Amino acid sequence: MNLAGNIGAYDPVDFGRRAPAAADTPFVEIDHERMSRNIARMRDRAAAAGVGLRPHIKTHKSVELAREQIKAGAAGVTASKPSEALVFVNAGIRSITLAYPIVRSESIDRLLEAAAAHDAELLMIAADETSVVALADAALRHRAVLPVLMKVDVGLGRIGVSPESGAALCLADRIASERGLSFAGLLSHAGHSYAAKSSQDLERIALQEANDLGALGDRIRARGIDVSRISVGATPTCVGARLPPGITEIRPGNYVFFDVTALRLGICEPDDLAFSVVSRVVFRNERYVIVDAGSKTLSADHGPHSTGGSGFGLAISVEPGPASHVWKVDRLSEEHGFVPHEGAPLAVGTLLRIFPNHACATIAQFDHVQLSGSEGTRVLSVDARGCVT
Ligand code: PLP
Repeated sequence: MNLAGNIGAYDPVDFGRRAPAAADTPFVEIDHERMSRNIARMRDRAAAAGVGLRPHIKTHKSVELAREQIKAGAAGVTASKPSEALVFVNAGIRSITLAYPIVRSESIDRLLEAAAAHDAELLMIAADETSVVALADAALRHRAVLPVLMKVDVGLGRIGVSPESGAALCLADRIASERGLSFAGLLSHAGHSYAAKSSQDLERIALQEANDLGALGDRIRARGIDVSRISVGATPTCVGARLPPGITEIRPGNYVFFDVTALRLGICEPDDLAFSVVSRVVFRNERYVIVDAGSKTLSADHGPHSTGGSGFGLAISVEPGPASHVWKVDRLSEEHGFVPHEGAPLAVGTLLRIFPNHACATIAQFDHVQLSGSEGTRVLSVDARGCVT
């Protein structure tokens, strides 16, 4: 495994890829073999640790790719928003965790109707009283019993109860006693692992998360409440650290593609990057070649949770054969990317393959992507694109 942040140490040859699909630029190209390899490795990691796998589909938003993950052993999927989950329920995915707090009961009406119609299992989360009230109201109106995981904040500082707090125990009591809800366990996302500086950091964060959840689980069990699931999931800890004892399930998302953030963290190699944007040089000036992929293509994300280094991705030329140079995408306008040419500008019209900082944010800008494999290239729909409600 490479040292975190050591991107400059990579050999351009490691980024070499087959010739890109023939499509109008800029476009996203997913390398099917590399993606399937990433999926298989995560399946093997989960199986070796004896935990369930429930990938987060916000990374690809594609029904076909979710099916591939399930075929490879995933027990179900995780989604962010009700409208996103709805796409997957309607497509026949049978078990979905909606890992986002619901604070308005009506916002899950369509989802609950679809889940009933498709006989799909829905797991919800709650992090405070408002969520519990909203979920309980929806459950009663739909005559359903909703399993609810209590969301625990293990260090990201975003959503969740503090694991040592008395409030966590009160909320567990509240969920367990609410008609229409059942207490399903604990769920956390160690997104702060994206700021890890070393593999030891990742180990420490993963272990701390499992210990915090384990201790809280014991305190809740002591109150007579069953804690059947302990669900964690962030690609850095799921890939870059041992899966610690005590957890029952992982929910990584980004691992399916990986990106320059994963490379920066040292949790993957250039050869694992299954996601890139093919773009074209449209101009060259004294300092930069200008490509047709800007922030409306790559996103302006430096990395998940506002982490990340400088630049907006790494670019290689797509001439057949080994790549000879890796350039950093330095700046972005909406429809332009700035790639410093260091005195050797590529010709206008040249294709560059850009590996973005954050694949999940990039794919969310596209209705369709190219799925390329040894059998050829075909168009893949980003089914849940724009599903942010
Ligand atoms: N679970 C939750 C609740 C998340 O918010 C996320 C990502 O934002 C994930 C799982 C998956 O994280 P990653 O893409 O780092 O694997």
